[in-house]
Amino acid sequence: MELLSSVLDVLAEGKIPESSSEVTVYEKSFEQKDQTTIVMVKVGTTKYVLATGQGKLFEELTGDIVGKGKVSPLSYENRLVINKYFEYTVPQAFGTQIATMGLGDRLGVASPGHIETTRERKVKPILAQQSIRELTLLNRTMTDILDAASFAVLQEGYKDGYGADADHIKLEKDIAYALELGFSFITLDCSEQIRNDIEEKTDEALQQEFASLPVDRKEYYTTHYLNKVFDVNGLSIQFDDTSLAKNTLVYGEAIDFMEHVYNAYIQKADKAIDFEISIDETETVTAPEAHFFVAEELRRRGVTVQSLAPRFCGEFQKGIDYIGNIEQFEKELQAHAEIAKYFGYKLSIHSGSDKFSVFPIIGKYTEGLLHIKTAGTNWLEAVRVIAVENPDLYRRMHVYAEEHFEETLQYYHVTPDLDSITPLNQTKDVDLPAYMEHDAARQLFHVTYGILLTAKDDQGNDLFRTEFFDTLLTNEDTYRNGLVKHIGRHLDLLDL
Ligand SMILES: [Zn+2]
Repeated sequence: MELLSSVLDVLAEGKIPESSSEVTVYEKSFEQKDQTTIVMVKVGTTKYVLATGQGKLFEELTGDIVGKGKVSPLSYENRLVINKYFEYTVPQAFGTQIATMGLGDRLGVASPGHIETTRERKVKPILAQQSIRELTLLNRTMTDILDAASFAVLQEGYKDGYGADADHIKLEKDIAYALELGFSFITLDCSEQIRNDIEEKTDEALQQEFASLPVDRKEYYTTHYLNKVFDVNGLSIQFDDTSLAKNTLVYGEAIDFMEHVYNAYIQKADKAIDFEISIDETETVTAPEAHFFVAEELRRRGVTVQSLAPRFCGEFQKGIDYIGNIEQFEKELQAHAEIAKYFGYKLSIHSGSDKFSVFPIIGKYTEGLLHIKTAGTNWLEAVRVIAVENPDLYRRMHVYAEEHFEETLQYYHVTPDLDSITPLNQTKDVDLPAYMEHDAARQLFHVTYGILLTAKDDQGNDLFRTEFFDTLLTNEDTYRNGLVKHIGRHLDLLDL
């Protein structure tokens, strides 16, 4: 704290303190508001907001009085104070006229790199974005991720706006909670309502089941869709008996749920919300006509969405390139992009990290209006930093990940050929980072993050977590540069 006293002296003069070997000063976070001056600093691996002066902002920040000011931890309470006085630190919605990129900061330390990556580009960052699955696997909460994003924005002096996505939410109580906390983006996951058992049914069985629906429902869908031809900017879509029955049965209940959530929560929210519909986490590939069917129903019911995520053909596995027939993908993506444009929302691409072979196609047909989600790729970049800066830790994590890989398959669909990974004892330290260029090794780490970061020894101490974060925070610039390079490559290929 002695160290910070002299830093506060400089701050009290209204000047930006300089970094020293002991204290890193984040110059861009320097702010003067009313009669308070603040700046963010790092001592060791812990960050603080320093404040001097007087007035409400100074008083409301909680922390220890040191010399001429106050040393405030990056706590939830202090985040709320920062949000209150600096509007740009509050997440916001972006609507449909600019591309957005979901960058879920799995660790709470990647956002500065994400901000730098997207700053001068035609895309806005959704810095906070975590699914309930990721939160559970990491023992984090929704407020943790908002705290991390808000402070990262302050640290970087980034004033061009960012979003916060409550990702893949299935339960109404989670939607209500996320909105209450100030999330600006809701991704409604309708996989519980989408029926996966319809695909295998015979035409006859489909007709039979459709016939057993309530009369008004049957009539409604028949009147509006049967044998009608819809012209979607030149793309012709129509429904015969079978396809109408199929889409009604697969998506009917899901569409009712979307409508309910929109009316009960999104429309009633006290600020603009980006509302995304996700129909991607199902076993059924979303055919263009199915996409149209869902979108047309939403339109008819007055439900406005900012983006929609279909399930594309082929495989979008985590952390590696697209698997599948690229020609077919291009054909279907073009149709999906047309449908999205026709209805006036953005096409959303999930598990969008590292899909380098199809990014140019996605960029071409969406014409720069899309939402793309990445999440785990920033964790892999962090692992790369560990491989470079702390080979010993990397080796221990690698062994542990291999031993515990099987346990992750209940959460993630990946199919790495683990035998193709060069054995660790045949790899020199300088070659460890190359594991992050290898598909199977990438997936091995991609899915074991929760296990690695929560692993304990017999005494209940963290096996890797503390050392992992220490290494990362000591080498923040290496991490930032890695993210700028890796995520930047995504944006280059998407032409954003
Ligand atoms: Zn998804």
